[in-house]
Amino acid sequence: MTDTISTPSADRPSPKPWIAQIHAYVPGKSTGTDGQVLLKLSANENPLGTSAAAQAARAHAGDQARYPDPDSVALRGALGTLHGIDPARIVMGTGSDELLNLAAQAYAGPGDQVLFVRYGFSVYDIAARRCGAQPVVAPDRDYGTDVDALLAAVTPATRVVFLANPNNPTGSYIGRAEIARLHAGLRRDILLVIDQAYAEYVAAADDDGALALAATATNVLVTRTFSKIYGLAGERVGWATGDAALVDMLNRIRGPFNLSLSAQATALAAVSDQAFVAASRDHNRRERARFVERLAALGNHGLRPLPSEANFVLIEFTGGLTAEAAYLGLMEHGYITRWLPGQGLPQCLRITIGTAEQMDAIAAALTQMAGA
Ligand SMILES: *Cc1c(COP(=O)(O)O)cnc(C)c1O
Repeated sequence: MTDTISTPSADRPSPKPWIAQIHAYVPGKSTGTDGQVLLKLSANENPLGTSAAAQAARAHAGDQARYPDPDSVALRGALGTLHGIDPARIVMGTGSDELLNLAAQAYAGPGDQVLFVRYGFSVYDIAARRCGAQPVVAPDRDYGTDVDALLAAVTPATRVVFLANPNNPTGSYIGRAEIARLHAGLRRDILLVIDQAYAEYVAAADDDGALALAATATNVLVTRTFSKIYGLAGERVGWATGDAALVDMLNRIRGPFNLSLSAQATALAAVSDQAFVAASRDHNRRERARFVERLAALGNHGLRPLPSEANFVLIEFTGGLTAEAAYLGLMEHGYITRWLPGQGLPQCLRITIGTAEQMDAIAAALTQMAGA
């Protein structure tokens, strides 16, 4: 089918070949193979929902007949205060997704390379191809980020490096010293995009220093999202910060009214409710530890939970129970998780940390399926 749509024809518009080669992003499913609605632990959404303040703000967002504030001034101001960043150095996006794509588009194009680690976030491949650049994949180190491998994969054509920290789908994390080493090893004309979609789940003491780097370096952009710990995936709000020149470029090409009225209002209220963020972080840390401990007991049945600093755990299956069988079995128990053959991980299942009851049920089901 790809061939049909990419073959130039006088009868219909011809897409650019680099666009026709893109495999569309595959979102986490919420229904089973026969359409039944399942409990969704496949998209890393917040099991505690959304803060009450953000829910209330939705009803009073303002006049829907009017365009929203094109510059999200109030929201950028609140984020600037929270993180100690000049709001002029914050750019909002329709989810951080928009910003990841804009970063690639602004700094890479045909003939250029966009670099990321194997098992990196799947949007990076799409972002690279969308602007006609060549995606380049560096080897992982036991599913995690290998700074040496990334640096070794840099060529004169490299323009952008994407790194999610913590990474999705692996959950892996590298600390401040490794981030600093990566940055120090890159030419200054290469844009380093550090995607911190899960940064709020990391303990403050383990901060990777990316925001501090973005405040001083001319070639570092940090992206954040309201989709994960803030529980606002449905509102599509992300932001990025970096050098003023980087922020200026993204502002030129983002959608002019990219954040809707309710997106701005609910995100602003969510920023003001840091107690909800802290509760979500605590819940995640507690339930993730409990879940990983139960999985570790299945080690001699070939299940290995990979170390995670995020709100999900990637499990490697090397025993009698395969990841595919576990995925299908959990579906029969009413849970949809994320099996990842399309990302080169047919031996792995990614499971979002849900409620305590859900994690107990999943651990019990896996224990039973593994024959333990
Ligand atoms: C979920 C996620 C995002 C967030 O995307 P949004 O467009 O903000 O919803 C970004 N990066 C990674 C690695 C993610 O897992």
